[in-house]
Amino acid sequence: MGVSRAPVVSLAPGVHRLPTLGDYINSYAFVNDDGSVTLIDCGIKRAPAKIVAGLAAFGKHPGDVQQIILTHAHSDHAGGSADMVKRTGVAGVTVHVDEVPFVETGEAPPRDTSTRLGAMFAKVPFGGFARSDVVQQLHDGDLLPVGGGLRIMHTPGHSPGHISLKHESTGILITGDAIWNMRSKMTWPTKAGCTSFKQNVQTAQVLGEVEYAIAAFTHGPEIRDNAREAVRGFLRKAAAKGR
Ligand SMILES: [Zn+2]
Repeated sequence: MGVSRAPVVSLAPGVHRLPTLGDYINSYAFVNDDGSVTLIDCGIKRAPAKIVAGLAAFGKHPGDVQQIILTHAHSDHAGGSADMVKRTGVAGVTVHVDEVPFVETGEAPPRDTSTRLGAMFAKVPFGGFARSDVVQQLHDGDLLPVGGGLRIMHTPGHSPGHISLKHESTGILITGDAIWNMRSKMTWPTKAGCTSFKQNVQTAQVLGEVEYAIAAFTHGPEIRDNAREAVRGFLRKAAAKGR
């Protein structure tokens, strides 16, 4: 399949997807009313150069970033965070309260040991990243003053403090890793990569209940047409399969 080379994909005025490894790993940027930028996720260790190029594509500089939010503390999302903190000059990152210990130590959350692969991963140091200070702790339901309001939804399972986000004014949902859309096909994240796969499946149901127009993913391209119906269809099918 073709890998997107675009440094940035516009989802709405002031809302941009920043592909950091083709469409396989995405960051997001929200431009606030005062021109400052809120960045969501920092990709792998090498991603910051891509993120900076993405910001430049809509006329922004790392110094414009005033907040960095991480959906969760895995190395494909937090791997570039320490570097981005340095480049932007922010004091640290913003994460859900249950993700704080992992971000502060740079250790990945525990893996689901109910699968053989997960049990194996759990024994080896895997997925660590350079630590960052946490400047703000998030809770379920928080509404951040980001370009018209960014709602925090705690969707634990992939990791204990995993979050999804909904931008209220544009109706854009960012699922985080609760649902993947790799190769434009919705799937669950790999079991072995989750802290509790079962909990991921349960908590993702909320993504079928809220209202939005566009579904955006940290892994894979966005869905612009009938996004909510597509997500609901995926969740319904997954529930019918009993997992
Ligand atoms: Zn991921």
